[in-house]
Amino acid sequence: MEVNFNCGVCRTNYDYEVGEPSMDDDFKLVFEHKPVCPKCGAIDKELLSEIGQSQMTEWDLRNLDMDLDLD
Ligand SMILES: [Zn+2]
Repeated sequence: MEVNFNCGVCRTNYDYEVGEPSMDDDFKLVFEHKPVCPKCGAIDKELLSEIGQSQMTEWDLRNLDMDLDLD
């Protein structure tokens, strides 16, 4: 899925195809493809923009729905 990020270094807003997000054991968000800032090349400095946050909230809700369906 494509997620909107805000670079923590140069503050550029960018969309990145992160593949399939998942949660690790600590309920931390893990992306299949690590976002890379297209402007300064920063890795692991990305912040979710406001758009990105609502995108992840939607993703989270979808996942919860799926879990409910499986039960
Ligand atoms: Zn950057």
